[in-house]
Amino acid sequence: MKENLKNKNATPVMKQFWEAKESYPDSIMLFRMGDFYETFDEDAKITSSILGITLTKRSNGAASSVPLAGFPYHSLDQHLYKLLTNGYRVAICEQVEDPKLSTGIVKRAVVEVLSPGTAIAEKYLNHDENNFLCSLYIDKNKFSYSLLDYSTGEFSAGENNISELYNTINQNQVKEIIICKKQIKKIDNSKINNILVTPYHDWIANHDTCYDNLIDHFGTVSLKGYGFSKKDLSIIPAGAALDYVKNNYFGKIKHVTSLSKVISSDVMKLDSFTVTNLEIFNSLNNRSDNGTLINAIDNTLTPMGSRLLKQHLSKPLLSVTKINHRLKLVSEYLKNHIDDLEIIDELKSVSDIHRIISKISTNKSNPRDIINLSNSLLVVSNIKKYISKSKSILKLISQSKNIKKICSEINKIIKDDPPANFNKGGYIKSGISKELDEFRLISENANQWLLDYQKEQQESTGISSLKIGYNKVFGYYIDITKVHINKVPDNYIRKQTLTNSERYFTTELKDYEHKILSSSEQINYIESEIYNKLIQFIIKDIASIQFNADIIAKIDVIVSHAITANNNCYVKPKIHNKSTFSLKGSRHPVVEKMLPINEKFITNDLKLDNQKQIAIITGPNMAGKSTFLRQIGLISILAQIGSYVPADFANLSIVDQLFTRVGASDNLSGGESTFLVEMNETANILNNATPKSLIILDEVGRGTSTYDGLSLAWSITEYLHNNPLIKAKTLFATHYHELIDLAEELPNAFNLNVIVEEHNDEIIFLRKINEGGANKSYGINVAKMAGLPSYILNRAKELLFQFMNTIDNDKSMHQQELFTAKDVLMDEFEKIDLDTITPIEALNILHSLKNKIEKNHD
Ligand code: ATP
Repeated sequence: MKENLKNKNATPVMKQFWEAKESYPDSIMLFRMGDFYETFDEDAKITSSILGITLTKRSNGAASSVPLAGFPYHSLDQHLYKLLTNGYRVAICEQVEDPKLSTGIVKRAVVEVLSPGTAIAEKYLNHDENNFLCSLYIDKNKFSYSLLDYSTGEFSAGENNISELYNTINQNQVKEIIICKKQIKKIDNSKINNILVTPYHDWIANHDTCYDNLIDHFGTVSLKGYGFSKKDLSIIPAGAALDYVKNNYFGKIKHVTSLSKVISSDVMKLDSFTVTNLEIFNSLNNRSDNGTLINAIDNTLTPMGSRLLKQHLSKPLLSVTKINHRLKLVSEYLKNHIDDLEIIDELKSVSDIHRIISKISTNKSNPRDIINLSNSLLVVSNIKKYISKSKSILKLISQSKNIKKICSEINKIIKDDPPANFNKGGYIKSGISKELDEFRLISENANQWLLDYQKEQQESTGISSLKIGYNKVFGYYIDITKVHINKVPDNYIRKQTLTNSERYFTTELKDYEHKILSSSEQINYIESEIYNKLIQFIIKDIASIQFNADIIAKIDVIVSHAITANNNCYVKPKIHNKSTFSLKGSRHPVVEKMLPINEKFITNDLKLDNQKQIAIITGPNMAGKSTFLRQIGLISILAQIGSYVPADFANLSIVDQLFTRVGASDNLSGGESTFLVEMNETANILNNATPKSLIILDEVGRGTSTYDGLSLAWSITEYLHNNPLIKAKTLFATHYHELIDLAEELPNAFNLNVIVEEHNDEIIFLRKINEGGANKSYGINVAKMAGLPSYILNRAKELLFQFMNTIDNDKSMHQQELFTAKDVLMDEFEKIDLDTITPIEALNILHSLKNKIEKNHD
């Protein structure tokens, strides 16, 4: 860059470009030149390949030429979208003075920098998804983070154990990560799904500076009001995020009005495997939301509600009181308002208030946004009229701020159906400014004046074909065909000669032209003055507007839960902190919706508690084991977000962590084989589960040889059963029928099986879960259903017969101890961290080890 600047032969414009580019080396610079945005050098090569536009050369003085690619200014939105979704940062360098008034080269300056995590271009944003910038700071075995959605103003921060780093990133619709340069190597790119990682200067990550940044921005003396102490670890990422957007948008961050604290111990832990395997947001097949939990339950009617529901789903609650409060709101709505179409209509009319506010704060709003804002804000008080019978919902609404004066000011000033852009004006009501009304009168009367003038001239000259016309270059003119030239009066001044006619003007016409043109300029000027004043008036109450938008989002989520429950016959779960987890007539919320019309979903029951801690579930392929396991996991999530659940009865203990190990999947690009992935996931469960956790294991151990797999499945089950620090409720579906015996041996384990009926070598799936273990696998029958050739099926039957005989002879195998007590003890000792252990934890571990030794002696 520096060399380019020294090049004496470079044109002035290229010098101006290189100067601007020097401050934004990591961004693609869109350089405004007249009606085009141009890119140069490397930027041009990148944009031409991403946007599919032609790469040419710009002559740059005598010595060289520069790669160039550009597009018209009006297609900015569509091209920005492509650059951002491809993970690029974009700096927009605009002409900052009127080219007509400039004497030399037009002044240009970077006016904003957009990046995937801070962009607010409408085309780029998904209205039902947040667009989070995740700022990270890693400190030994902990990390702190903040999540800032610049497009809505939502801003939160928290901290967690380092093991939760990638779960936090992957579950929060993060579009960009920022981290200080010295920590960038601590991010493993293979674990963050191609999210752009942007480094920032190390000196920004200074605790005190970040703290000062935050209190300065919020205008407070401390952050106590937001729940943060001065020493909070998350001060650094929050302060750095604020600094980042402030720089990108040149200080336009007024809509970031508060910071909320995320307390990780308040929410159910869902690891990435679980979120993926349970298909909560994306389906395993096509990464879309078809066939996902969110798709099955999202009946929200506003963009804010839809985003809030997603946030709830990624953070189910642990507090029984809070969950019950949400459930109470849903039940009130169901009881009193489920048929109230007026409320639905009101919600349907709501625009994306949060995103309009961010447009206002960044000077990107238009008159239509403002009128939509006012109409949407009125919805809170409109809904209140219909809610009289529901005390809790009424209480929620009554917390809303009084912003009537904003709505009435907007409605007083902006026309009811204004244009979406400012170009032609006409969006301010009449009666607001006397001056504006006068100029409008001139402009409205212009046509009549011109017609009258034309008639007057026709009469005075006697030329009936005389016409008044207008073009951009010459302005207004009087057109007279050549045959009448001899009748042209002396006061006509010639302007232009055409083949068949001459064009003239008069001083009168010229004066009027000036009046018309300056009146339309004046109209635009006065309208934009009034508009900007209104914007300043609105900005003063941004926090209150956002608060009311949050209330609308909450109501929308309540209504959505009520609609889902009503349409799908869900019940209100009883939630508690005791040990019983019991369901009657439970269903899978997604599978039940996707079955063909003539198939009915078969409901199933389940009861888990301290005595019935581990269920070993056996049954043929295709019987419905995986579906059953997943539906239990999904039901516990639904209950803890405050939703009704797909069952006839649900009495559920709080689940602190939900773990799932479902199916075998490769992570070959991450350098991990199927079996290693399976074991990683299992290790994560065994190291983190607690007695309040729910573990779902589907076919664990299947990715290796039969005996290895069986041994692992066996020892994992024993460990989950015997380790008092875990003792988590577990559902384990398996094809290892040997585990049926294990469930009979372990006092707190029991067998379940999915029953099928056999008719002449055919099997009929009943999908019903029964007590006891399955007696057969029916794999060959399922292969027959799939259409395998009969030769293969017959040969498989022969082989199965031979294998079964061999296994019978060797049956003592699964009775033996599969790992010794010494191995367990060594393992436990190795895990103890003497530097951090508390006395009570030490006692618990001792107790567990002693139990194990005693059990081994028995
Ligand atoms: P495998 O052992 O081969 O993995 P599985 O026992 O886990 O099989 P699932 O995958 O759960 O079987 O179920 C197979 C199919 O059966 C599902 O895709 C679904 O269409 C249907 N199904 C499962 N459970 C039920 C149910 N309770 N009612 C109706 N249909 C069901």
